[in-house]
Amino acid sequence: MSDRYAVFGHPVAHSRSPEIHAEFARSTGQDIRYERILAPLDGFAAAVAAFRAAGGRGANVTLPFKHEACTLATELTMRASDAGAVNTLRFDGERVLGDNTDGAGLVRDLEVNLQRPLRMARVLMLGAGGAAAGVLLPLLEAGIASLHIANRSPGRARALAGRHAGRGPSVSGGGLDDSMHGTWDVVINATSASLSGEMPSLEGLGFGADALCYDMVYAPDRQALPGPFLQAAREKGARIAEGMGMLVEQAAESFTLWRGVRPDTRALLERMAPAWRGGR
Ligand code: NAP
Repeated sequence: MSDRYAVFGHPVAHSRSPEIHAEFARSTGQDIRYERILAPLDGFAAAVAAFRAAGGRGANVTLPFKHEACTLATELTMRASDAGAVNTLRFDGERVLGDNTDGAGLVRDLEVNLQRPLRMARVLMLGAGGAAAGVLLPLLEAGIASLHIANRSPGRARALAGRHAGRGPSVSGGGLDDSMHGTWDVVINATSASLSGEMPSLEGLGFGADALCYDMVYAPDRQALPGPFLQAAREKGARIAEGMGMLVEQAAESFTLWRGVRPDTRALLERMAPAWRGGR
């Protein structure tokens, strides 16, 4: 019988994870079954317990359960405990390992797929919510020169920056205002602004040579044309990319944790990501 995995969320119907993991299983010859499970908002722990009892070997966790998933783990990786959020669970008998693969997925997408080295890069992160917190430690560990976090609610950005001060690179926080003016090598949009048709302004931002502007949001309607945020970045001369690569790479990291085999992501990315990705 195939080993069972699942993604838990609410909503979860939109999740591309089953398609991604099915392809990884096919290409690596692993015998797994991966499904979507819609957990009730007040019934996440019970839904995971039922899945484990039925033989589930591991799970991905998406909104709004990433924080609660920390409490289900008997052991957290450093990156999950730093993020305060878990997107991957592995069940080993009584033990439950909680990990967060989002940051590793982003770093791999930037450095390997998009060929934008992070070593000594000046990085601007827009947003200070769960997605931003989830990627911070792997970004800092990639050897960046500096990180500024800019958020609509500046206090939240300062608090997130404060938690990471003194770890090597300079880390600061502020509002979506002139605190973010400067020259950047990598700009990451980790806000959900575009979901409401808005976008953080790029006014006052300068881009270094081979700068890359990355929007974590990916959407099926952006296949032909990037959204307004990335279009504005392109007009300023930056290369642009959206978050499909991060999604595929975080999934590859989860798959590796579960199965001990790293899948090749290139063919899948070519199929799922828009053609304009990575260009100017
Ligand atoms: P979240 O915890 O709800 O945080 C939302 C962030 O967006 C906050 O910083 C919020 O600022 C900001 N924001 C919301 N509306 C805004 C607006 N109109 N103008 C400016 N800022 C605004 O959400 P999250 O979990 O961090 O997710 C953020 C986005 O990342 C989502 O769209 C998600 O789909 C995407 N994501 C992608 C991947 C991937 O694999 N590609 C992985 C994770 C997340 P305030 O603090 O001021 O409210």
